[in-house]
Amino acid sequence: MDSKNTKEDERREIKEEYTDAQGKRQTRTSQEDFQTLPTRHLDAVMNVPGFKEEAGVKELMTEAWEHYEKGTYDKALQAFEESMKKIPALEPYIFYYIRVCRNVLAVPLKKREKQYEKIKSLYLTILRILPRQLWFILPKLKNLYRCKWCGRYTKYIHPNVPTFGFAKHKNSCQHCGTMYPIPSFMWDSPDGRAYSYYRKSFALEDKQFYEEFLRDYRPQHLTKRETPK
Ligand SMILES: [Zn+2]
Repeated sequence: MDSKNTKEDERREIKEEYTDAQGKRQTRTSQEDFQTLPTRHLDAVMNVPGFKEEAGVKELMTEAWEHYEKGTYDKALQAFEESMKKIPALEPYIFYYIRVCRNVLAVPLKKREKQYEKIKSLYLTILRILPRQLWFILPKLKNLYRCKWCGRYTKYIHPNVPTFGFAKHKNSCQHCGTMYPIPSFMWDSPDGRAYSYYRKSFALEDKQFYEEFLRDYRPQHLTKRETPK
């Protein structure tokens, strides 16, 4: 049917339709898709053979995702890798998080960024020991995250802040300009990336997203690649 579906092509197929938990066919980017994304991903991971039986792996994965969402890539990477050592079959579900962590960590920090990390660490320590009613005495600290595309520190913007396909500035990195710079458990899962692909959530100039997706998967062609909606 698909002439490109050759034996040499080892990319996994991700179609515009998927099967939901009830066995019903659903279309990606639908309301149903959006609402069930996190649970579908969690279920897929939990159903990896051995996951439920292997001691400690559930806790490790929880830790990995928590660190990933906090932008603490080094600790996230460690926990993802340990999980995969325990259960290699987790690879299709977590390889992308691992790649993001490795790419970010490979970018050397600038002097100012190193200083920011030291201050943030001290700040968090003080918050832990200071009674909540005294938090007001602390000066405000900017909440910066390392962009998952370029590794530079940029201001935190929730991954769900919409751009409506054109308001790129509402959710993009201050340095590389790529949309959706903050690491996300949901959006960086296989189904989350598929949603973004079929919805054309990223601007066309954000080539890294489309190139990586096509490297990892064999999706259906996007018929209209003009203005994403
Ligand atoms: Zn960036």
